[in-house]
Amino acid sequence: MKFQTNGLIIKEQSYGENDKLVWVLTASHGVLRAFAKGAKSIRSAKCAPTSLLSYSRLTFYKSRETYIIGDAASLRIFSKLRADVKKMCLAQYFCELALTICPQEQPAEPFLSLLLNSLYLLSQDTRSENLIKPCLEMRLACLAGYMPDLLMCKSCGAYSAPHMYFLPRTGTLSCASCGGTDGAVLLGEAALRALRHTVYADDAKLFSFRLSDEGLEQLNRASEAYLHFRFEKDFKTLSFYKAITLTT
Ligand SMILES: [Zn+2]
Repeated sequence: MKFQTNGLIIKEQSYGENDKLVWVLTASHGVLRAFAKGAKSIRSAKCAPTSLLSYSRLTFYKSRETYIIGDAASLRIFSKLRADVKKMCLAQYFCELALTICPQEQPAEPFLSLLLNSLYLLSQDTRSENLIKPCLEMRLACLAGYMPDLLMCKSCGAYSAPHMYFLPRTGTLSCASCGGTDGAVLLGEAALRALRHTVYADDAKLFSFRLSDEGLEQLNRASEAYLHFRFEKDFKTLSFYKAITLTT
């Protein structure tokens, strides 16, 4: 079987002396693991288009359970990202999220466009890293079928309060009077509004909001905790990004 599709390289590994094994997020087939023969050599036309974070036009051949990349041409390489260590670390976390959360071998168009939008914004300077990150985290979880219920306090039905708790284990809210449980994340009114926005806003408006630094901190705590519990995972690339952020 042979087919051509566009895909974002979200993981790259060397294989043997000359080959690469790559994980590609495509619109038509979700995440595919594929061999790129000879692609390790910088003289190979496949080298750049099969490098991490390249968005490329790829021809796949499938034989039994194995995918092999034939022709490859770069469409976008996010060169601005590659020049910034901190942003590059965050982009690698985005890739680890995609690898964990996106469907495999089934259509994943909304996942791919979310990833590409996030990487594009990250490569520009119009949105801060700590705004792009929670948007991507929460929206990926929603696309994967884990939409939290942020309408009201799960115990008393209160819609809003100066402070509310987000309960990441269950993806629900609890007001200050009903109290938070173990692992609850305290949110001010603006951070709660923003968290609701990341879940309920239209795709086109996802990244369009403003929030103070303090609010963004709360929002990031909430989204990180949510992914940690939903996917039962500590993301190594996130720890690395945080370590880098502290030293720069
Ligand atoms: Zn309550």
